[in-house]
Amino acid sequence: MSMHELEIVKVIEKIKDLNAEKVGLQFPEGLKVHATKIARQIEQETGALVIISADPCYGACDVSDVDMVDSVDVLVHFGHRPLPLDYVLPIIFVDAYSDMDLLECVKNSMDMLKGYKKIGLVTTAQHLHLLEKVSDFLEKNGKEILMEDGAGTIKGQVLGCNFSSIKNLDADAFLYVGSGNFHALGIKLFTDKPVIVADPYLGDAREIEEFADRILRIRSARIAKAMDAKKFGIIVSSKKGQSRLELAKTIKIMLEDSGREGFILLLDDVSPNILLPFIDLDAFVMTACPRIAIDDSIMYKKPLLTPSELEIAIGIRRWEDYEIDEIKYC
Ligand code: SF4
Repeated sequence: MSMHELEIVKVIEKIKDLNAEKVGLQFPEGLKVHATKIARQIEQETGALVIISADPCYGACDVSDVDMVDSVDVLVHFGHRPLPLDYVLPIIFVDAYSDMDLLECVKNSMDMLKGYKKIGLVTTAQHLHLLEKVSDFLEKNGKEILMEDGAGTIKGQVLGCNFSSIKNLDADAFLYVGSGNFHALGIKLFTDKPVIVADPYLGDAREIEEFADRILRIRSARIAKAMDAKKFGIIVSSKKGQSRLELAKTIKIMLEDSGREGFILLLDDVSPNILLPFIDLDAFVMTACPRIAIDDSIMYKKPLLTPSELEIAIGIRRWEDYEIDEIKYC
């Protein structure tokens, strides 16, 4: 991924306009490699002191404005688009683009798209600028392309926890253009429709069905294990974009109404080690990042459930009505 030089020039202009003396920089893990070079350039061209946030950053939900408010006058956040949240600092969001060619893998997906006419086209922030080209190619090849803006996302964009841009699409199948299984799995669990991944990094295409089935089997086993749990930890994140205290309170009441106990645990970064000292808790419910329970389940000894999975475990939702957990930003 790269940040175009033009974007850095714009950032420097904005920093000068704001007369900022202290500038915070925040990068997702994959872009931290550029941090010192950009810091050097900003310091040289603006005279401001740069402070780089070294904490992990995994998503747009995790802007470190609150952490840095006492240290800097402006924060430059790279690699994610803004969410509709109230920030306590001026924030400059800088897109990071991948210049990787998307058409080869999309061409390789055509066989798998045979038989589907209406295609929901989806990607993530770093490929959005090339999505129109993909859409044109698919339309020239007889497909009808469906894309919509979401709440907190733009046309064709999903987050791992937010699928509002595809919820109203009457698609026969979805084509996810991007790497890995993370977003494609989310789309599959959200829509239950065929999802094909066109992967520009591998240059090929694959279906997500089998992977999703495997994940669902693990979820079913974790839910079954939580059925006997009496004491639950309800995890709430202190990160603004993941914080769902109201939901946690509702879950506590739900647990107590069903004769179980629920304790709200507030924390910043969720990790297996942080939960280890709570030896008397039998299971955990996650109101922070919805994907931790689904994608990192294997790392946790005790069952870690999403809110709707908890409903299944305590018998107020049917397995057939399984839903992926979302953070609704609007
Ligand atoms: S809450 Fe999780 S899935 Fe959603 S944007 Fe943040 S890191 Fe990604």
